Amino acid sequence: MGNIPCQWLSTNKIQLTRLVIQITTADMKSPNWLKGYIESLDIQPMGRYRSDCPVCGKPNTFSVTDDGLQRLWYCFHADCNVSGRTGVTLSRQHASRVFSGLQADTPVPRTSNTYEVPNTFVSLSRNLDAELYVRSVHAYDAYIAGRADIRYDFRTGRVVYLVKHEGKVVDAVGRSINGKGAKWYRYGNSTCPFISSNGKRVACVVEDAASACSISNLVTGVALLGTNLLDGHNEYLSNYQKIFVALDKDATDKALDMVKILCRKVPTRLMVLDRDLKNMTNEERDELIRSHIDR
Ligand SMILES: [Zn+2]
Repeated sequence: MGNIPCQWLSTNKIQLTRLVIQITTADMKSPNWLKGYIESLDIQPMGRYRSDCPVCGKPNTFSVTDDGLQRLWYCFHADCNVSGRTGVTLSRQHASRVFSGLQADTPVPRTSNTYEVPNTFVSLSRNLDAELYVRSVHAYDAYIAGRADIRYDFRTGRVVYLVKHEGKVVDAVGRSINGKGAKWYRYGNSTCPFISSNGKRVACVVEDAASACSISNLVTGVALLGTNLLDGHNEYLSNYQKIFVALDKDATDKALDMVKILCRKVPTRLMVLDRDLKNMTNEERDELIRSHIDR
């Protein structure tokens, strides 16, 4: 009977240790998604990692240290100061190779006409909801065929379409798939359209990135990312042989104005949409596009 208090003591010690770990891992400043993000980083045991802060976005202020049992993170920026630890439950089998291209201590240089892709943008395959969303709006074929660079933003819960110009990423636009925040979010401040191209010299102007992807098997989809034609769009579109403007039905007046402007440089026609391109079946959409471009 003499060993009962000892057992009681050791059981309580384990419970107490668990409690302490729970308290120390429940970091007060870090957002909920951060722990999973830290665990997914490609860091060797006992290794260190330095990058832009995924929370405040400040360059090269975010540090992660792996002590062999768990990972500790910290942002050095005074206005941010997120910090925390993963706790010892880190399962290495979940560690992904997605970030293997990112080298610690080597920030990507930022220039005025490029957009530095945050390391919270991960492969679409990392999130099932993101992949299902991309399939549902008929953008998946464009993604698989390399006509669009689509990612998932771990931090904001958005499907992100990378906006490129002459092969360089200049901006990104994200669609919320968790119902939080605005439906669409523009990450950078470029005036470039989002383009999903099959290399054809016939462009079709649409409102959003998913619609541009959905038609890119037959034409070059050019998304205004809104309903306004900006100077940047105008300039870009002047390189095409033929343009169709296919805005949603409620924006037909705007579409007609656009046709008038674009017509000055390139033969341009209106494509009337009874339904959203994203809601058509592949056959319906192909038939609609072909009926215009073959004319
Ligand atoms: Zn920070």
